[in-house]
Amino acid sequence: MSTAHDLRARVRAAFDAIGAQVDLAEPGGPGLPASTPVTGEVLFTHPETTPEQTRTAIADAAQAFTTWRTTPAPVRGQLVARLGELLREHKADVATLVTVEAGKITSEALGEVQEMIDICDFAVGLSRQLYGRTIASERPGHRLMENWHPLGVVGVITAFNFPVAVWAWNTAVALVCGDTVVWKPSELTPLTAIACQALIERAASDVGAPAHLSRLVLGGREVGEALVDDPRVALVSATGSVRMGRQVGPRVAERFGRVLLELGGNNAAVVTPSADLDLAVRGIVFSAAGTAGQRCTTLRRLIAHTSVVDTLVERITAAYRSLPIGDPAAEGTLVGPLIHETAYRDMVRALERARNDGGEVIGGERVHVGDEATEAFYVTPAVVRMPAQTEIVHNETFAPILYVLTYTTLDEAIELNNAVPQGLSSAIFTTDVREAERFLAADGSDCGIANVNIGTSGAEIGGAFGGEKQTGGGRESGSDSWKAYMRRATNTVNYSSELPLAQGVHFG
Ligand code: NAD
Repeated sequence: MSTAHDLRARVRAAFDAIGAQVDLAEPGGPGLPASTPVTGEVLFTHPETTPEQTRTAIADAAQAFTTWRTTPAPVRGQLVARLGELLREHKADVATLVTVEAGKITSEALGEVQEMIDICDFAVGLSRQLYGRTIASERPGHRLMENWHPLGVVGVITAFNFPVAVWAWNTAVALVCGDTVVWKPSELTPLTAIACQALIERAASDVGAPAHLSRLVLGGREVGEALVDDPRVALVSATGSVRMGRQVGPRVAERFGRVLLELGGNNAAVVTPSADLDLAVRGIVFSAAGTAGQRCTTLRRLIAHTSVVDTLVERITAAYRSLPIGDPAAEGTLVGPLIHETAYRDMVRALERARNDGGEVIGGERVHVGDEATEAFYVTPAVVRMPAQTEIVHNETFAPILYVLTYTTLDEAIELNNAVPQGLSSAIFTTDVREAERFLAADGSDCGIANVNIGTSGAEIGGAFGGEKQTGGGRESGSDSWKAYMRRATNTVNYSSELPLAQGVHFG
């Protein structure tokens, strides 16, 4: 089991390798705490960004935008290409920090850094494919077209559970689109952010890009609010809880800024009688218990046909019993810790409420890992057979709880899938093409992500990522998500010597 001493040494080694120059004081020093869920201890304290420094960071990014917006997009892509190279070089270093701060097992932490590399590759290609349309004009001698222009400063607010990938999704795309970025990471994961900032600064210096294209501001909600309220921030891309989005959305709208919200999920998988149960069990266990249930796309509701539910629950609980839980850095571990005590308390409360609603809880107990782990919170993932989709099932509890519901007709299953306020991810396990297509149809799943025969988590960067309803409606990453980071101008050019008006209007 890693000790706080080991973890500090790993952080320092990763910082040295990356070249991150920040004063990390021992706990008790001035500044904000940087903690680890692995042992539950504070590892360091680090400097907090003052309100004055936040304003300066925004001003710097706004100034950098004035030159970056006219830098040709393929040249902008060179910066992102270099960032991708540095991430390849330091993949293990950044992953170590993700494990220390977010508690992800090594394989998932490496996967998160790979996602950063993938989005860099995508953005580099995109830097040569930012396109507008030409549209047939109704007037002779006229050309009607769309031009996409850089938007301005993008404020990126991120959650603890994807401490680096979400920054990269936003930053790689925003930079090739000609925007500049100010990043406010979760107060729970400052170290990974400091490391990423060091890498982007090195990439900028290596390719001769202007300074201040990407700035980092560290602190809690107040620092985020400074980005939210500043009219120089053209787009606020905020990832986190529905509670946070409810605060951020109206405040940005108040000043007519743009907002891109990536909020909580409450994801379901439907398992039909025709499903390949081997495949379904594997997909369910990874989606529900992976990352200790702390992904926005974590599977939280299993909607199983009455004919398969008993077998499924038996097989899932058997798989859960064999899951190695413990130090996320240790080889073989599949389930790491919850992020903090509050997350554990939320889990206990949710299970209590589920029991009160008639739920039958299997698992969900605290596990003590190692000698020094008293402040850390490791749990066995829980399966809860529910008699109905009660209010607690409508909530996203950010912990490994899988509520099991049953259905008899596919319409009923789809209704259950859609009956929660969130709309991020969903899946159906079936070998019946009619059932699969029905789930994906307009009157099927109402989520931003709907999968067939894979779980709800683990999206690729090539698709647009995001969800509907209380998940916020934003889309990030691949496909045409880049359009959120640009402004559209519709241009009409008259190359004739006449001045015909549209809609046949005559004027004088
Ligand atoms: P959180 O809402 O507590 O915090 C997220 C970020 O918002 C942090 O940086 C925090 O400091 C900041 N913040 C909070 N209130 C703010 C305010 N009023 N103004 C400005 N900034 C504010 O979320 P968390 O606990 O870090 O992360 C878990 C949540 O994030 C879950 O609900 C999860 O589903 C969601 N999430 C969603 C996605 C997605 O893409 N949809 C991805 C990852 C996480």
